[in-house]
Order: sequence, then structure tokens, then C-alpha cells
Amino acid sequence: MSAKISLLPDHVANQIAAGEVIQRPASVVKELLENAVDANSTSIQLVIKNAGKTLVQVIDDGQGMSNTDLRLAFERHATSKINLAEDLFALTTKGFRGEALASIAAIAHVETHTRTEDDKVSHCLKIEGSKVVDQSLSTQPKGTSIAVKSLFYNIPARRNFLKSDQVELRHIIDEFHRVALAHPEIKFQFYNNGSELFDLPVSGVKKRIATVFGSKWESQLVPVEEKTSLAEIKGFAVKPEFAKKTRGQQFFFVNNRFIKSPFLHHAVSAAFEGLLRPGYQPGYFLYLTVDPKTIDINIHPTKTEVKFEEEQSLYAILRSAVKHSLGIFQVMPTLDFEQNTSMEVPYSFKDKTAVPPPIEVDSNFNPFKNEGSSRLTSSKKDPQWEGLYSGLQAEEITSIKPPQESLMEVSEAPRVFQLFAKYIVCPLKTHMLVIDQGRAHQRVLYERFLNAITNKKGVSQQLLFPLEVEMNPQQHEQFTHIEGALEMLGFQLVLKENKLLIKGAPDHCPTAKIEGVIESLLSEQQEESSLEHFSHADQVAKTMARSLAIKSGELLDPKEQQALLDDFFGCKETTVSPFNRQIFITLEKTEIEQKLN
Ligand code: ADP
Ligand code: MG
Repeated sequence: MSAKISLLPDHVANQIAAGEVIQRPASVVKELLENAVDANSTSIQLVIKNAGKTLVQVIDDGQGMSNTDLRLAFERHATSKINLAEDLFALTTKGFRGEALASIAAIAHVETHTRTEDDKVSHCLKIEGSKVVDQSLSTQPKGTSIAVKSLFYNIPARRNFLKSDQVELRHIIDEFHRVALAHPEIKFQFYNNGSELFDLPVSGVKKRIATVFGSKWESQLVPVEEKTSLAEIKGFAVKPEFAKKTRGQQFFFVNNRFIKSPFLHHAVSAAFEGLLRPGYQPGYFLYLTVDPKTIDINIHPTKTEVKFEEEQSLYAILRSAVKHSLGIFQVMPTLDFEQNTSMEVPYSFKDKTAVPPPIEVDSNFNPFKNEGSSRLTSSKKDPQWEGLYSGLQAEEITSIKPPQESLMEVSEAPRVFQLFAKYIVCPLKTHMLVIDQGRAHQRVLYERFLNAITNKKGVSQQLLFPLEVEMNPQQHEQFTHIEGALEMLGFQLVLKENKLLIKGAPDHCPTAKIEGVIESLLSEQQEESSLEHFSHADQVAKTMARSLAIKSGELLDPKEQQALLDDFFGCKETTVSPFNRQIFITLEKTEIEQKLN
């Protein structure tokens, strides 16, 4: 009987291997970017056409390859990164399997140009479906450029399996984020269909996070740092109040390689316990450095999973490091990042000269002096107390709907007034409410917008002159997600190639604020870097509420104060703002009496 077993030809074996390593254009992006990093590049460009289906190209300024190495690079199990089996236990590079280029070349058209420091010219190699079709000299600068065209051209089943450009681009952006966040010391540029999506200069980790996700991030991070014999941990945790509902901002890097580890994720989640609202995800960017001997990266073909030798200890170290950082942050005074009130000057006050506040601190006041006698004797008849009420805008109001029955007993006509251009004070029979005007208004607008979106009953006003907002391709792509919600709200929009035409807006949206609102919607969208958007309606309503709400520092006339209270007391929820901040406090009469007793 003749033998039934035969060795598979190389190109078939490569195609099979490719099935494992290259699932979609984003896999090509990952492999090429990692090779460029391994080549000690200082600047890396990623060029994509049609979400990588037509072209993925990576251009680096790294060490390049000699002509011989160039040919070898596309052979299976050809790698310059390990020689001996022992090397597997001391990996410092991203690659080591020597499969990526061979796999890619088996299922695409690949054109490579490369030049080392010593070479006077660059070498070019073209491969199609594992076959070399051309080899020549070229004139490229030092470094390597690999262009992968027509991915899966010879595997129609794979090509048909690819998702829409939008989804494939999202996967590519995710891979790009992972490499770019792991290497802030390298400059990265990313072009999609001829437009620039990212331009990331060399920087530190924090700055890199902010250039990738948006500058607001810088104030939302707390540093995490821990050094033990087992591991060094550095990086940042996202302050709990800025947590998102999506898992888009969870990054572990081990020895500068992005990894997924449900186990380590659990450790970080444990550190966040009790600090997050239900349904919210912890955000983190954590960089672990461990002895390469103590990890095994070999367990997954695409190398995003790692096995640690001393998992339990690492778990404990990580949890306590994150907990410690969050703890330090918790005891620090909570700064309101939405509004820095000390910087806010009400418009009507801008041109006036500053007048010192009427209350001065009594520097001679000593609470232990004259113990026994009334502590407040010195200030009881202080004439300056009268000054406290001057300038307050008090107004009789006749009716107030209670926010919650228990909160209010409106039996006498209370006087409401604005305090510090920030709060509305509402005195009642047994207590008084001090209401944060900005948060109360956010609540009012949020409920109004959400209602308009979900019931599709936004009222639109036509703009006399349509407005135009510029958009880059990434924003364009993201905008398509929220377009529907905005139209329900009353926006009339026309989405063009690189701009947005606004022809109408909701009737509650002042024309002067429309552009600002759209811009904040776009930047919020950009920060939601995950596919699984929780609810576009909710997000749009929140962002709109935040940009349109009254701010601290804005003076309100008595009519406006009352209108705000009326609207606010009609809300479904009155305790917290849409961003989960407390809206008001109550001061009990008894509390005041105790203090003044
Ligand atoms: P691995 O990265 O696992 O070694 P690859 O198939 O990705 O395997 O690459 C094979 C080899 O080709 C690498 O080991 C490296 O020597 C060379 N190579 C690949 N890309 C580059 C690049 N951008 N610059 C220099 N050398 C490269
Ligand atoms: Mg590689």
C-alpha cells in the first residue's frame, strides 16, 4: 500500500498558520507594528485604506534588514529574535514565533522595502500568495516599509467574513491604541484613506494617554506606583467618578506588551470595590515589569494572554497598589473638574472692580478664651453680619412643587435667593435646601432631552443661517452613531465628507451654543473607544445637558431662579445630577439651632 501521509507544501502550511495568526486586517496591523517596534524604530507610520481591506502599510525608521534577511523573513519559523529554546524564557521582543510575515505573505500581496544603516540602497521584495514575484533595488531611506494589499484575496470565505469598514477600522484603532500606549517613547502617525487619524509625538505615558483619548483625561487619572521584588507596577487608574460603562479603557502591559488577563482585571476591580456605581467599569492603564523568566507568553498564538509564575502574589500587590492610589485620591479634597469655580467670573461682573467680601476673619478669635461664657458673644452684635445679606437677590415665591414629599413642607411662602453665584437657597419651615444650580439644571435638561429622544418628540427650530462644523474621518465615523439620537432631539443635520451642516436645532438650544454642543458631542464620542456603546440616547442627553446647563458663577435673576426650581422640582430624580453628583443638601433648623446654642 502506498503511503497516505505526505508533508503539506509550504504555501498550504502557511495558509493554515495564517488562519490562526491573521483573522482580520487588525491582526496585520498588530504584527507589522510590533515588528517595527522590535526593530528599534523611533518613528512609525501606519497607513490604511478601506479599513485595511485594500491596504495596510507600516513604515518605520528602524534597523532594516539585509537582502538575505529580507528573503528569510518571509519563511516560516524564520526569526531573528530567538535562537535557542531557552530564549523563549527571556523574551524582550514582541515577536518570536517567526510566523507573522510568512502567514501574511501567504494570503495577500506584500511589497517590502528595507534598508539597513550600512546599505547604500534599499532592497525590495514582492510576494503574492507565498510566491516571490519580484526582487529589485530601490531608493528608500533607512528602515522598513511593508505594504500588505488585497488581504485574503485567495481565501474568499475569509474575505466575505469580514465586517463593515466601520467595525474593521474600530479593531484596527484598538490595536493601534495598544501598541501606541505601550510605547510613548516612539512617535506614531496613523492615516486612514488619506486623512490623519492620529499624530502622537514622543511623550510620557500620561501625555500619550491624553493625546490618544483626549486632553480631558489628564485630570481624570491618578498615578499608581509600586515596586516589589516580584514586579514593578506603574501607570494610572481612572478616578471612579469618570468611570465609563464600557470596557474601552482597560489596559495591562507586561514588559511593554499589551495583554489581556481576567485574573489581573479581577485584582484591579477588587481595588475599585465600593467606589463605582453599578454597571460602571474601572478604567486603568497599568504597566507591569516582571522578570521575563517568570512569565509564559507562549500560550496563545496571538500572544495577548500571559501566564504568571506567582499569580497570587501579583494579584495581591496589584490590588493593594491600586487601592492605595485610589485611597490617596479619596481623602484629598474633591475637586470639581466640571467647573473650577474660583476661576469663574459672572459676565455681568467682568468689568467691575473687585470689592472685598464684607466678612472678615477675626484673627484674635480664640475658641478657648472665655470658656463657659457664650462663644459667640464677640460676633453676636457684629454689624458686619448685616453685610452678609446685601447683594443677595431675594424674592417672594408663591408655590414650589416638592421634589420628594418628605423633602418639603411648603406651608409658608419661602424666599429663595442665589448664594455665591453658585447655589439657590430655599428656606422652608423646618429646614433649608442649598441647591447646586449647575447640577440641578443639568438634571432638568438631561431628563428633557432623554424624553425628547426616546419619545421622538424633539421640537426643531430652523436656523436662518446653517452652521458648519469641520470633522475628521474618525469623528465622521463616530458621528454616524449619534446622528439618529440628535435628529430625534430636533437637530436637522446633513453629514458631508469632512463636515457637518446644521440646518436646525432643538428649540431649547440657543444658536450661539450649537457649535459648542456639537463639538463636545464629538469629543465625548471620541473618548468612548469601545464598540459596545451603552446607549447613545443617554450619552447624547448627558453631553447636551452638560454643555447647555447654567454654570457656577452665572448670576440668575429672581425669575430665572424660580423657573429653575420649578423645573427641577418636576424632575423624576432630584438627588443626583446625570453625572451622579449630589444636587442639594438640607440644613435642618435643629442643626442650626444646635450650632448656635
Ligand atoms: P517574529 O517577529 O516573530 O520574529 P515575523 O514573521 O514577524 O516573526 O518577522 C520575521 C523577522 O523579520 C523578524 O524576526 C525580523 O528579523 C524581520 N523583520 C520583520 N519586520 C521587520 C522590520 N520592520 N524591521 C526589521 N526587521 C524586520
Ligand atoms: Mg513579528
